Amino acid sequence: MHLPHTTLVAIAAVIAATAVVSSHQTAGRQGAAQAAPKPADTEVHTPVPAVVTPGASDSAPPSDAIVLFNGKNLDEWVLTRDKSPAQWVVADGVLTVNKARGVGNIETRRSFRNYQLHIEWRIPERITGSDQGRGNSGVFLASTGPGDAGYELQILDSYNNATYVNGQAGSIYKQGIPLVNPNRKPGEWQSYEVIWTAPTFGADGSLKTPAYVTAFFNGVLIQNHFELKGETVFTGLPAYKAYDRAPIKLQSHGDPSEPISFRNIWVRELK
Ligand code: MG
Repeated sequence: MHLPHTTLVAIAAVIAATAVVSSHQTAGRQGAAQAAPKPADTEVHTPVPAVVTPGASDSAPPSDAIVLFNGKNLDEWVLTRDKSPAQWVVADGVLTVNKARGVGNIETRRSFRNYQLHIEWRIPERITGSDQGRGNSGVFLASTGPGDAGYELQILDSYNNATYVNGQAGSIYKQGIPLVNPNRKPGEWQSYEVIWTAPTFGADGSLKTPAYVTAFFNGVLIQNHFELKGETVFTGLPAYKAYDRAPIKLQSHGDPSEPISFRNIWVRELK
């Protein structure tokens, strides 16, 4: 039998249409067989976050914090140079740097890996000096040796005081310029809220993962998951040096300007 071309086209169209209808029916039956998604499908019930009682204010330690300075004593601190009792000055609930010769930096008795740190500091109202010589101190987020060895979050009077920008207050010294400058004027209390993710190392001492820091300065974000290139150094390029846990260190800088003060220092260890 010979069918005209138009008839063949029409038959082909009918067959194609039938196939489409059939495949839609199959898909519909399969969809009906599966349970319709419900909100509860994506609700998770474990692990339950631990209950933490926050401080009365955001300056006060929450219930799971280790208080490093409570305004009364330096029981949690030692001199970096020989681990003897810290000889900085505690008065009126405030800790002040001792710039006397031979005293130097202090660091925590305890060692830490990853943590959240809260610390407040104050530049003297009548600060003198300029550039790096005006209220210079620092928080070493990990003290990996004597002197200034480690990773320094810079403290300086950067209210109206020009210096190199990777050395101003809130910088990761000579590595990370702060995103903005939220300094308060000398005489006013200022705060750092720091999240420190320690570097990790292989058994042979090689770097596995770098250190990261996120920091708020007076509540303003200044370092956003900043990746460090190694320890902060005064001269030369940063490099990593393997460590596991390390103290937190405060700097007694050698410049002749008036010593700065600290209060409300606490830390929460993180996994
Ligand atoms: Mg410093």
